[in-house]
Amino acid sequence: SGAGQALQLLTPKPGLLRGLWVTLWCCSMAGPWDAVLRDEAALKQAAVVAVDAALLEGVLMRTDAEPNASEVVSYAPFTLLPSAVPRALFEQAYAVQRDFNLLVDAISRDKEFLERTLASTIKVDDFTARLFRIHQQVLDEGLAQSVFLGINRSDYMFDCGAASPPALKQIEINTIAASFGGLASRTAAVHGRVLRVLGKPEEAARLLPNNPALGLAMGIAKAWELYGSPSAVVMFLVEESQRNIFDQRCVENELWDRNIRVIRRRFRDVYEQGSLDGTRRLFVDGQEVAVVYYREGYVPSNYDQQNWEARLLLERSRAVKCPDIATQLAGTKKVQQELSCPGTLEKLLPGNAEAVKRIRATFAGLYSLDVGEEGDQIAATAIANPERFVLKPQREGGGNNLYGEELKQVLQRIKDSPERTSYILMDKIEPQPSVNYLLRARSPLKASKCISELGIFGVYVRQGTELVLNEAAGHLLRTKAVEHADGGVAAGVAVLDTPYLV
Ligand code: ADP
Ligand code: MG
Ligand code: MG
Repeated sequence: SGAGQALQLLTPKPGLLRGLWVTLWCCSMAGPWDAVLRDEAALKQAAVVAVDAALLEGVLMRTDAEPNASEVVSYAPFTLLPSAVPRALFEQAYAVQRDFNLLVDAISRDKEFLERTLASTIKVDDFTARLFRIHQQVLDEGLAQSVFLGINRSDYMFDCGAASPPALKQIEINTIAASFGGLASRTAAVHGRVLRVLGKPEEAARLLPNNPALGLAMGIAKAWELYGSPSAVVMFLVEESQRNIFDQRCVENELWDRNIRVIRRRFRDVYEQGSLDGTRRLFVDGQEVAVVYYREGYVPSNYDQQNWEARLLLERSRAVKCPDIATQLAGTKKVQQELSCPGTLEKLLPGNAEAVKRIRATFAGLYSLDVGEEGDQIAATAIANPERFVLKPQREGGGNNLYGEELKQVLQRIKDSPERTSYILMDKIEPQPSVNYLLRARSPLKASKCISELGIFGVYVRQGTELVLNEAAGHLLRTKAVEHADGGVAAGVAVLDTPYLV
């Protein structure tokens, strides 16, 4: 697989030297493209080539104006230059991914853990509460399917805040609709072209191959096979507005290439055309569905009453859900915070001390705002030092977190109300900025101070109690200008990037 190939290329360096390198990288602004960045004329020319290369390679997005038509499309925003990523941290992120797959799977199977952990949250957060009610309802009825497919993406930044060398710190793990595995499979080719144009052919050759689209598709194909009905289809559950369709098509095409039929439907279509038969097999437009792959359903705005009913129908069905509702709940910020409490990982992964160690090493400080003395204390600390923290609600998709002055004001307002338990607090990660150019349609070319976020895709399939597949499936690097605290590619803040290992 692409991920396997990528890992083989990561030849380890002697530890001492690596440590020194990483220290230098972190504490100085020196980067691999310093000389290149001084030649503005060459960069301008390279940017023109870069955009055409992106279009040729299929790094595409539909436009804001026409999110549901492909007549006129544009490139997905991306960096002109690949960003430097410390090799040791990149390897560490790959090495811990299968542990995270095991952990997410373990959480999703632990009814008591989810109930206990989310008890305070669902009292005040209506969205999480609704998901939780469906979770309980399907467990009460009894699950119709014993095959589980997980596709997640664990996101990290390289923290230079407290100490050097920089440390790999997890931002969050996305267990539903983790996107850009498709387009990430195509950005290395674009950056390779740019580096060649800029006179850096050796550096271009060092960019790693990366194919999360294939890895994701292999997981879906495995689940489809275990479902055991050759005429059944895979259904991509998609949003009303489908700007990011090309990212999804990359995965879809891998399935078609394996003679697995794919249909794309919205919640509304499921509501109108979906039904279960006597053994809870799912039919949509008369076609039996083996696997439901959600690229939708992760934020409140995805749901009206009919969509909630459609979601319940899908969860009750015999189709393999990617993810099932328990796995979606396992990805909440509240669960992430609970995982950082002493003893929690040990309980979820008994007898797997090595995995626990690898996972814990990636955790930043996370704090509960539950009612009680501890919550009071950390709320007071955050109000006094807002720049040290991020305040996170139970939301996905970027643009929801609070920072700085806003964090302070909101916490001050809600500190004595139960509403505060709908949030968690997290230590703010401080990566070392580097200079890059963010290429966006109709934006002037200018240098920006940027920070990057590395995501590793994880894929696993469980049948009953047996894990039949557990892999790291590739990576995604996203980069944004430092003036934006928050927000992903879809939110229009971050852009696609390729790691250049140093
Ligand atoms: P979402 O599920 O909405 O993507 P995230 O936890 O990933 O929520 O936060 C969104 C963005 O906010 C991240 O992509 C990152 O840029 C920024 N962010 C989140 N947590 C931190 C943190 N602890 N330190 C610094 N930046 C953070
Ligand atoms: Mg998220
Ligand atoms: Mg995120």
